[in-house]
Amino acid sequence: MRIIVVGGGPAGMMAAGHAAQAGAKVILLERNRRLGRKLAITGKGRGNITNAADIESMIRQYPGNGPFLYGPLYRFSNEDLRNFFQTLGVPTVVERGGRVFPESQRAQDIVSALEKFLASNNVEIRRESRVTSLLLSNGRVEGVKCNDEVISADAVIVATGGVSYPATGSSGDGYILAKQAGHTIIEPLPALVPLETKEKWVKDITGLALKNVTAKLYVNEQLIAEEFGEMLFTHYGISGPIILTISRQAVMALAQKKQVQIKLNLKPALTVEQLDARILRDFKKNIRKQFKNSLNDLLPRRLIDTIIQIAQIPPEMPVNQISKKQRQALLRTLTELTLHIKSVRPLSEAIVTAGGVAVSEIQPTTMASNLVEGLYFAGEVIDVDGNTGGYNLQAAFSTGYVAGVSAAKKE
Ligand SMILES: Cc1cc2nc3c(=O)[nH]c(=O)nc-3n(C[C@H](O)[C@H](O)[C@H](O)COP(=O)(O)OP(=O)(O)OC[C@H]3O[C@@H](n4cnc5c(N)ncnc54)[C@H](O)[C@@H]3O)c2cc1C
Repeated sequence: MRIIVVGGGPAGMMAAGHAAQAGAKVILLERNRRLGRKLAITGKGRGNITNAADIESMIRQYPGNGPFLYGPLYRFSNEDLRNFFQTLGVPTVVERGGRVFPESQRAQDIVSALEKFLASNNVEIRRESRVTSLLLSNGRVEGVKCNDEVISADAVIVATGGVSYPATGSSGDGYILAKQAGHTIIEPLPALVPLETKEKWVKDITGLALKNVTAKLYVNEQLIAEEFGEMLFTHYGISGPIILTISRQAVMALAQKKQVQIKLNLKPALTVEQLDARILRDFKKNIRKQFKNSLNDLLPRRLIDTIIQIAQIPPEMPVNQISKKQRQALLRTLTELTLHIKSVRPLSEAIVTAGGVAVSEIQPTTMASNLVEGLYFAGEVIDVDGNTGGYNLQAAFSTGYVAGVSAAKKE
């Protein structure tokens, strides 16, 4: 059995190694000089490779076709993945929110472990080898065209990734290959992506990260989603984990020309009444000060000027002259800080791509194409996408495993 794997990311390396372990002769073709370039930068270089959640909970973390992953996740689970890397000498740890990282905190160690796995199973790796088309004949795949050379095989696994962060190698080639085989491509859209706001004041606080805040997403003034955790202000708008998570629904709404707003609650642990009482205490403590000097206990220093400006309270006003109406304006600003979303950052800046090869045309138990014999798909090239927290890499590893083993056994 000769198998070609196109793409040396997490899905492709997993598929290649396991196909070879199952007895196939495997060639892995990677367009870059290095394998796993995107994998090496995941989780800010720390590699959030999976999540410790149970499988049912995991499935719910894939807004893009989660149920398609039942088969792959049960066949190669998050536990299997952690054991796999442990065996390769990379133990893992569970952190906040069930996020799993290598104990070394280095995503590059995951790449190196996979390279070791490929070498020990005698996978032939050809670097700087870009596949441009599939060789198809009578409804089956017979190989690929790569760097103008024809390479034949009994099966081909396409694991070329999505179209985000194209500098890492994933520039959408897999869609061209899939289309050539007659597959439907669901329009690629950015999934985990920062949002651009109409408000210009965000620029003044670029780089400010806030923890323990709530972001509520409103579409045409209806509450659609709510996330609690960390966020970041940027020169164009907002980013960070909770914003990325709700961005998927913002993308879909903006594509339908709907009005999108995000309301931030900077003090979600307190009710409005509790927050009011807290502010009154702070005012009492600072009774002789100007308003701008009375908020140091309540807010990060960099945020104070912005909040004062939005609440429209004169910064120099003595604290004891602040009216109830003004205090209510402050309360509203702190609990419903409104941002109007005008657009999202481009697909190239998204963490993952929503869309890709239609799941209805892939066997979920084997990752085999329903249209072309011997053709398989794995990883982000498939129309599956998950939230932040390790879910996207787990999907790549699980579908890669299933594709590799199935192709080797000709399932
Ligand atoms: C900045 C960033 C941080 C992230 N952090 C996390 C995280 O912490 N946790 C998480 O779960 N997910 C994270 N992700 C998402 C995750 O990295 C991807 O979902 C995952 O890498 C997809 O794996 P893949 O193997 O399908 O594709 P990729 O990793 O994109 O690999 C595809 C490979 O195919 C190669 N290729 C493409 N076309 C061809 C061709 N024609 N011929 C030959 N080779 C080709 C590419 O060069 C590439 O090496 C992050 C993404 C980004 C951009």
